[in-house]
This record gives sequence, structure tokens and C-alpha cells, in this order.
Amino acid sequence: MRSNLKILILGGTSDACDIAAALVARGVDVTSSLAGATRRPRLPLGHVRSGGFGGAEGLARYLLENNVTCLIDATHPFATQISANAVLAAIAAHVALVRLERPPWQNLADHRWIEVPDIPTAVEALPEHARVFLAIGRKEFHAFTQRRDLSGVIRMIEPPDPVLPHDFDAWTVLLSRPQTEVGAEIELMRQHGVTHLVTKNAGGPARHKIDAAAQLGVKIVMVARPVKAAVPVPHHVCNSVAQVLGLLLPREFLD
Ligand code: NAP
Repeated sequence: MRSNLKILILGGTSDACDIAAALVARGVDVTSSLAGATRRPRLPLGHVRSGGFGGAEGLARYLLENNVTCLIDATHPFATQISANAVLAAIAAHVALVRLERPPWQNLADHRWIEVPDIPTAVEALPEHARVFLAIGRKEFHAFTQRRDLSGVIRMIEPPDPVLPHDFDAWTVLLSRPQTEVGAEIELMRQHGVTHLVTKNAGGPARHKIDAAAQLGVKIVMVARPVKAAVPVPHHVCNSVAQVLGLLLPREFLD
């Protein structure tokens, strides 16, 4: 069975890939949009486009020119600009908008984490000579490395640009995706003598680093989510991939 839905997914997340895969499997016409900042992104099923639209106006134009019937914003919780553009563009182009907001990770009683509002506060929150595991991507680690008493390990998927200075020996750079098992994260933190984990509250299933830190008694500095632009009625906010699919597809499509 084919539907007359024509969907644009704003992606760059594993949730976006999961939505694309589920819709493509049911014969829906899906295009996923990536920002184009990652050289080797995980490619979703269906059509893929890459690069900015040119603000909300450009996105609205794209929706109209491509006869998109529904815009799904499945971007990362920290990607505020594209989500704001999605709201404005959906209104301007009269296209339905569905935003996926995965629930944030919760501070459990046995976790030793402090929540901070942003990266500069995370830098200040670290005690002198902390051994830090930075799991915040490749854009924002410079604020930490400017503190000369700190050291540790920085994990990022792709190399930083500009490249690191030659005297960068207090920090080890790991070019990899998050580990898929808690045990591997524990091993990594032990190996580097980590005392503090700094991470953004992305939410979702990739929480092994948090569970590993909790098990080891490593303190967690959790950067709280920025506030995204509100999604006005009659558009929708969903908190899981299943909810997005349930909203878009007739029941028989989901069987
Ligand atoms: P952002 O600050 O909200 O967006 C900046 C600009 O990048 C947007 O105005 C838009 O340019 C373009 N853009 C962003 N996402 C796009 C997409 N999916 N398709 C086409 N253009 C896009 O975004 P960001 O925080 O830099 O994140 C960029 C991408 O990386 C997002 O797709 C996000 O899901 C993913 N990501 C972000 C993080 C994070 O921590 N921020 C983590 C993991 C993945 P125009 O205005 O020209 O359209």
C-alpha cells in the first residue's frame, strides 16, 4: 500500500534515521535533510539532501516547491536554530509539523551529577586538576582545554577543525562514536583515570557513558537542554519514534 504523504525529515540523529526507515518500509515518500557538517554521516533510508536551506524562508520555499505534506523535526535537542526555522516555515507554507522531543535523561538517586545551564558553566563547575571525559562533540571543547589544570579524554566522531595545537598533550582525542556497551565505557573511563564526565542532556538510548560513570562513582556535569521554539497548535510534539509513526500512519500501516 502506498500513501500520498510526502515527508521531509530534519535529521542528523539516530531517531531521524529510525523514522525514515520505518516510513520507507511502508512505501512513504521520504526525504531526510542533513546539515552537511559531518563528512561521513550515518545515511538514512530514502532520499537524502544535505546543507542549509537559507533560514526559515528557504525552508518554507523548499516545502512548497517540493509539495511536502508533512515536516518532521527530529533534530538533536541542542539544535535550536533549525527547530525555530521549522516552526516558522511550517506556518508560512501551511505544512503540518511534527517535532520529536525525546525525553531528557533523569538524575537518578545513585547518580552524582550536577546540572549546568551551558558549556561555560560546565567549565567553571569542574574542580582543579579534574581528569575529564568530554563527550560533547567537536565544536565546544576548546573552552575546557583553555583551563590548563584540566586534562583527560575528548571523544568526537570527526577530527576538530581547526586542528589541535602541538602542545595538546594533556588531552587524548578519541575519534569514535559512543560505545554500545556500558562495560566498554567503564573500561575507557578507568583507562584514562576519569574523575568527571561532561555531557549534554541529549536523552535517548545512548546513555552507556552515564551508567558507566554512575557505576564508577565518576561525577557527571550535565549540560541542560536549551529551550526550543514552541510548537503552536495544531502542530504536534511527540516524545518517541513510535508516537511519530502512530500520528502519521493509519493503524493498518503500522501492523
Ligand atoms: P542549528 O544550530 O540548529 O542549525 C544551524 C543551521 O544549520 C540551521 O539554521 C540550518 O541552516 C542548518 N541545519 C541544521 N540542521 C539541519 C538539517 N537537518 N538540515 C538542513 N540544514 C540544517 O543546528 P546544529 O546544532 O549546528 O546541528 C546541526 C545538525 O547536527 C542538526 O541536524 C542536528 O540534528 C545534528 N546534531 C547536532 C548536535 C548538537 O549538539 N547540536 C548533536 C548531534 C547531532 P539554514 O538556516 O541555512 O537552513
